[in-house]
Amino acid sequence: MMHKLEKEIPEIGNEMYDLMVKLYPICRSITGNGVRKTLDIISEQIPLEKYEIPTATQVFDWTIPKEWNIKDAYVKKSNGEKIIDFKKSNLHVLNYSIPVNKTVSLSELKDHLFTLPDQPTLIPYRTSYYYENWGFCITHNQFLQLEEDDYEVVIDSTLEDGSLSYGEYFIKGESEDEVLLSCYICHPSMCNDNLSGVVLLTSLAKYLKNIPSKYSYRFLFIPETIGAITWLFRNEHNIPKIKHGLIATCVGDSGVSSYKKSRQGNAEIDRTVIDVLKNSGDEYKIMDYEPIGSDERQFCSPGFNLPVGSLRRSDARMFPEYHTSADNTEFVKAKYLADSFSKYFKVIFKLEENFGIHSSKKHEEELPEIDSKNDQVFVSLNPKCEPKLDKIGVYRKLGGAALNNDALTSLWILNYSDGKHSLHDISLRSGINFKQIKQVAELLQKKKLLKQIL
Ligand SMILES: [Zn+2]
Repeated sequence: MMHKLEKEIPEIGNEMYDLMVKLYPICRSITGNGVRKTLDIISEQIPLEKYEIPTATQVFDWTIPKEWNIKDAYVKKSNGEKIIDFKKSNLHVLNYSIPVNKTVSLSELKDHLFTLPDQPTLIPYRTSYYYENWGFCITHNQFLQLEEDDYEVVIDSTLEDGSLSYGEYFIKGESEDEVLLSCYICHPSMCNDNLSGVVLLTSLAKYLKNIPSKYSYRFLFIPETIGAITWLFRNEHNIPKIKHGLIATCVGDSGVSSYKKSRQGNAEIDRTVIDVLKNSGDEYKIMDYEPIGSDERQFCSPGFNLPVGSLRRSDARMFPEYHTSADNTEFVKAKYLADSFSKYFKVIFKLEENFGIHSSKKHEEELPEIDSKNDQVFVSLNPKCEPKLDKIGVYRKLGGAALNNDALTSLWILNYSDGKHSLHDISLRSGINFKQIKQVAELLQKKKLLKQIL
């Protein structure tokens, strides 16, 4: 089977690339018609089960937001010249912008412009999902050229009760044990961070559905974060069946293959992927789990702690094109998609080969020893998925940009406060200094997100 597949892989790479080009122009977000259109196009390849979860539905600590849709957006100078045009790039609009139609001064306009001073020729990708705002993203070079004027700003969007959409595809194997393969479908026109994972899983599903398998395979096409939280909330009963999982993202750039381990660190999926990479003959990188990144943050939250890792190429925040207009159809290449596909397939092939061999030995960890009177051990009072940190004032308003220090520290503490890791352990693991860890832990305790046990 592997041998036959090797011959087909370049062709599969082209097929993935073509699908990516087709999906690229769509303005996606965490909700709305862009997601539906994306799911419809994937459905032409694999029979997706589609779900619509209404606005205001409570999912763990989160609430399904209003649905966002957009028709057009632009900024015009007083002489009628359109200087920013959503139709030229959907990254120009702050994703989830509320509707606007007014004339503003240069200084008011500047309050709503986002740029990348260090990458002055690129348009950034920015979002404002949970904080009502409007804005435009432009190149820093354009920003520097703006002159005093009365600017007409129009964002023809709607933010109304609706639903969050996601798709799922299930392939029944001989056994009820499942392999979970998940990607996100919420980014607008960006290829490596977003679409590469979507097209890889679509092709993998297409291929696997024709092959008898021992495991069952569950493919998720969900909006990042809120979609993973929604899926986990609605499928808690199904969680024990998940034996292995991978998050597919950033699988089409020229970087070497890299694997971010599951939170468990030595699960069968971790050993299997590392083995495949070792035997690939290619360079590779292995990274420990950290509670930042993509949906592994939710699947590996301490209340689930699923054996879900992420096999990708460049780590999202490590390539300069990340979250910019340069993450485009030129940046991702069919041959890298093909290579990633082949590695995913080898992982699955190996899991199938080893089915039933590895006993799921789960050794209980001991409570940590506390060797300093300063050290403490907490448990998260909200262990299933991340709590919604903006409720307690530590999360960023602007999405797509780097996390602030307190938010980052909170994610580390909440993810590892499982009664088995002390604050000192968390400091060592995260590289965040102990004083900062302790301060934020105290804040989280005050906000009733943590309980001290030692
Ligand atoms: Zn992203």
